[in-house]
Amino acid sequence: MINITLPDGNIKSFDQAISGLDLARSISEGLARNCVAMELDHRLVDLNARIDRDATVRLVTTKDPEALQVMRHSAAHVMAQAILRLYKDAKLTIGPVVEDGFYYDIDMPPVSEEDFPTIEAEIQKIIKAKLPLRRREVTKAEALEFYRNEPYKLEMIQELPDGTISVYEQGEFTDLCRGPHVPHTGLVKAIKLLKVSGAYWRADPTRAQLQRIYGTAYFDKKELDAYLTFLEEAKRRNHRKIGQALDLFSFHDEAPGMPFFHPKGMVIWNALLEYWRSEHRAAGYVETKTPIILNRSLWERSGHWENYRENMYTTSIDETEYAIKPMNCPGGMLLYNRKPHSYRDLPLRAAEIGLVHRHELSGVLSGLFRVRAFHQDDAHIFMTPEQIEQEILGVLRLVERIYGAFGLGFHLELSTRPKKSIGTDAQWELATHGLKSALNAYGRDYKLNEGDGAFYGPKIDIHIKDALGRTWQCGTIQLDMSLPERFNLHFVDRDNERKRPIMIHRVIYGSIERFLGILVEHFAGRFPLWMSPVQAVLLPMNDELSAYAEEVKSRFDAAGLLTEVDSRTESLNRKVREAQLNQVPLTLTLGAKEKESGTLAVRTLDGKVTYGITHERFIAAVSENIRQRAISFDGF
Ligand SMILES: [Zn+2]
Ligand SMILES: [Zn+2]
Repeated sequence: MINITLPDGNIKSFDQAISGLDLARSISEGLARNCVAMELDHRLVDLNARIDRDATVRLVTTKDPEALQVMRHSAAHVMAQAILRLYKDAKLTIGPVVEDGFYYDIDMPPVSEEDFPTIEAEIQKIIKAKLPLRRREVTKAEALEFYRNEPYKLEMIQELPDGTISVYEQGEFTDLCRGPHVPHTGLVKAIKLLKVSGAYWRADPTRAQLQRIYGTAYFDKKELDAYLTFLEEAKRRNHRKIGQALDLFSFHDEAPGMPFFHPKGMVIWNALLEYWRSEHRAAGYVETKTPIILNRSLWERSGHWENYRENMYTTSIDETEYAIKPMNCPGGMLLYNRKPHSYRDLPLRAAEIGLVHRHELSGVLSGLFRVRAFHQDDAHIFMTPEQIEQEILGVLRLVERIYGAFGLGFHLELSTRPKKSIGTDAQWELATHGLKSALNAYGRDYKLNEGDGAFYGPKIDIHIKDALGRTWQCGTIQLDMSLPERFNLHFVDRDNERKRPIMIHRVIYGSIERFLGILVEHFAGRFPLWMSPVQAVLLPMNDELSAYAEEVKSRFDAAGLLTEVDSRTESLNRKVREAQLNQVPLTLTLGAKEKESGTLAVRTLDGKVTYGITHERFIAAVSENIRQRAISFDGF
């Protein structure tokens, strides 16, 4: 008798070994049709695997999250099979599942997206044939013999330990693979090839260049379509494209990975910083500024020279070695130590907009998202152990206010002590307890990442969610038990004892460059008035009105508004269209009537026009919207 325990606690008994599929059928045919794999004694395996002893089994259906991973891996096999049918000399390497899809690295002549329809047609044939995927276990010697003409597979097999190796077969196709897989190719319901790029075998530029073909697959055509729409929308919002169209920033070969900000980009930059400063002043922070080049002995003391050297730019001045700072912390430590501190000074919240440089490989640079030079909105908070909870709570509230101003949601993750760490059990206990009780007092759910903290302390990471539902880790609150030791920080407590302060590093924007890039995509270039590089454009109806438009503009300039006059001899329609394409929030048309009555016709980006707005009323309404840093302008 074989007793199978199901998730609901029910036990089903069989008098002989059965497969997961048989088990599903014994429950219902409908269930069997939607089963993809099973969890056998907590291990994900093929649905066709045999259950030959008492076990706990959870059937994995198309509704379960892991089902998608299993099916996408099968989809990678299906794609590889189709390619081998079409390109006889192609040689397979590896084809893993990645976030949102899969890829396969194949040694074959270069392909382009124009080849995708042919490959996809072949893929559809394989899906329609509902080929069963069968697992076979072979010895290493058998595998070596089987793959004798497949150089990449041979190399991989040779590196495996002796013992059995699993391969999966579907029709004429066989792949070296751990599995698990869906029972048949018909379960790859909706599949699409997405892009192709070059990749080196084993990421080694001295070895063969391969074609990396990306695809994605879903159980449901509707879900695939939604994902493709999302990709289109992400492409439309690409910050590099919008940054160029709106003339915000650029990159130049003379400084790879180091953005140049244009006048319009600087308006957004300054709006972000002015907002940041006003919030930080209100939250009791002081602002500091430290040099970007500091000598080697400082970096040795902080530990960066030993642990972070490859990412640091160095230089030598007067025969002494210096490094360009990759982080602001050591400078912040010197500032703290410039004078003795008493418990009365604590908490001390010292913020710094610090320009840091980190050497990133040229291949990973990506617009404003991955750069070599960026500004952090850093702050170091020095406090007594009793102040941890209150201070962290204060940072969390500041985070909520600042992200809220951009309409960004967020979630929190707490990472605790890793295996390798410095500090005593008591210190970690105190620190982790402080972070946890702050999170509990804050009252929002958070995700716990056990053992994921830094070696010098636990941390809270803050992940924002943009308008497309994408998440980005921007903010972090990091407790540090190392630097106060290394820099011998002290304060004199109530009892006249010299004690070590507790210290945190925290950022909210993170990298201001990256945050700005995220905002470009989040707003799709349609910034709220308070961040807009141009708040309104004035369109005189004819040449005679151009001088009047300039007059109105200087009145708006004096009121602190950012306006432009478009007096080109283009049609009004065309100028309106261009202003809207440039995402200027307000378009003001000036005709003879407007001049006579001293009013404006105001058009918002949704196309609504309001006539007869006096200059005073316009200035008052727009200024108030900007003062409030409102996310939208609802008109008059
Ligand atoms: Zn595989
Ligand atoms: Zn720091």
